[in-house]
Amino acid sequence: MQHTSMLAACMYGLAVGDALGVPYEFRLRDTFRVDGYLAYGTHNQPAGTWSDDTALSLASLHSLIANHGEVDVEDMRRRFADWLTAGLYTPDGQVFDCGLATSKALHTGRGCSGENSQGNGSLMRVAPLAFSDADDDTIGRVSAITHAHPTCMQACMLQVRLLRRLLDGEPIRTAISREGLGPIWRMPRREIRSDGFVSSTQTAALWCAANTTDFYECVRLAVELGDDTDTTACVAGAMAGIMTGLEGIPIGLRDGLRGHALLDLLVQTAATGCASQSQP
Ligand SMILES: [Mg+2]
Repeated sequence: MQHTSMLAACMYGLAVGDALGVPYEFRLRDTFRVDGYLAYGTHNQPAGTWSDDTALSLASLHSLIANHGEVDVEDMRRRFADWLTAGLYTPDGQVFDCGLATSKALHTGRGCSGENSQGNGSLMRVAPLAFSDADDDTIGRVSAITHAHPTCMQACMLQVRLLRRLLDGEPIRTAISREGLGPIWRMPRREIRSDGFVSSTQTAALWCAANTTDFYECVRLAVELGDDTDTTACVAGAMAGIMTGLEGIPIGLRDGLRGHALLDLLVQTAATGCASQSQP
């Protein structure tokens, strides 16, 4: 795996964004303000609890580590099923949030591809692939474990390309432009949708990341858009984490993340595995 020094920043970034958003999921825009982790709320979880977004990102990372940085789609699918049935990759074994398409796909073994299956459930877990050599076809197959609609697969490919540009040190507005997208950052807030559609989430997350330079400001902006708060902030947080580095993520939010020892362990294993592979 590549860029493993930035892996912790990316994984903490997405997990902190997710956990900040969990208590506010489905809330209407401008009916609340974010001030650090909140206990209870929408899903009745203790403060600093991540949801399916982070759990499935950790499962994806674990699969990459177990397969020496390579994508094994069947292995990844099994780990997603382990999350759903046994609560692996959660802070306390509890699965309290699972998208319909993800649940259906993991129970049937087939990713959803209908017109009504253009949700953000694969976009939210794709960040670890930026640290692998996975090509577009492979990224599409990883999306298709749960989300096989071309719109979802293409969004995941785009997201990995954007994350790789950020890992290479490109400014985010340059990365957005070089991927052929317009100046998303100039869109007025009222035009930014924060529902569960994959294109809404991707645009909203890019808008937050391209309009802020501070990690917390980015994820707070994302959560305060309302509706699918955890996923918008998760996708934005992965980018903001890479942009600011681990030191840009407030230590209180990192330490306050329930179950972060699991995240630390996977990140350390990825770095160690990479180091040992690079030795003669
Ligand atoms: Mg979630």
